[in-house]
Amino acid sequence: MLKPDNHQRRQNLSKRPENLAPLSGSKSMNAKVESIMHPILRRFLPILLLCGLFIINMAPDAEALTRCGDCQYPVASDALTCPKCLRKLKWPIIPERSRSARVVVRTGSDAFIRHPHARVRQYRDDRNSGDDQIGHIGSWGGPTTLRYLLRFDIPRAFAMAQVDMKGFNVRRALLKLCVADHGQYAGLPIRIYLLTRPFAEGTGIAGVREQDHDGCDWYHSAPLMVWHREGGDYAEKPSIPAILGEDGENETIIDITELIRARFDEYEKTGIWNDPGLLIMRDVSRYGYRGYVTIYSLEASFIGQSVRSPELFIH
Ligand SMILES: [Zn+2]
Repeated sequence: MLKPDNHQRRQNLSKRPENLAPLSGSKSMNAKVESIMHPILRRFLPILLLCGLFIINMAPDAEALTRCGDCQYPVASDALTCPKCLRKLKWPIIPERSRSARVVVRTGSDAFIRHPHARVRQYRDDRNSGDDQIGHIGSWGGPTTLRYLLRFDIPRAFAMAQVDMKGFNVRRALLKLCVADHGQYAGLPIRIYLLTRPFAEGTGIAGVREQDHDGCDWYHSAPLMVWHREGGDYAEKPSIPAILGEDGENETIIDITELIRARFDEYEKTGIWNDPGLLIMRDVSRYGYRGYVTIYSLEASFIGQSVRSPELFIH
């Protein structure tokens, strides 16, 4: 909406000095000047237009504000969810944006870990098989007993996309998680943190729970490596809240720009890419006891045309 106006103004501004030139006294002179100026203007018009577009594109996206339809809280026009009530902001452009990423990351390693209170004894599912296509995030026998560790191989994706990570400015990073089973409730409040210690994925076969598994679990980041803090070592800040599978949706897109930007900032400072991954668990600060949601892991394959495994879109 702003574009035509701005362009018009810019063209007018560029014209004015010519019109105000000392020669502008007589009509014939004016006509002469115009006849000279027209080809020049015509030649420079595309450049002027380009300059205008460039300036408009450089303006920060977050400048425009709108309001959350649910709680009326003012939110940035490019936000996916309301920061106050966490409801999804409904704009038709959102799915399109998520697919126009500069780099899409689809590979990496992941693991579902669970507190022994949340295990099904029969399946020994507190042991990590490493190859599960689905797993749980949420509460069972405790508020945050079902957790998901996820590390995207960002350097590999950048290499494949032939984008240089050095000096890359993360404008936006969107995480997509697909829900396999919503459980009993419509939406699970979750919080996403940055892991501070790497984890081992495990190399077993889906559903097979070896007694001596080689992946991480609730107490270990890798065999014989004990977490400093049971359930995974992570930084308290920054963290991102979201609602997983809200209103029965099968695909949740979460803006995790702050987290990914933190990794890139550290890389810029140290020159070393150090990314142990993300930790996703229920957000205890949000609501009461909320059960769990089943999501697809990185091992989940395509179902028809759509990707079910987690994806990271970096712009
Ligand atoms: Zn709101």
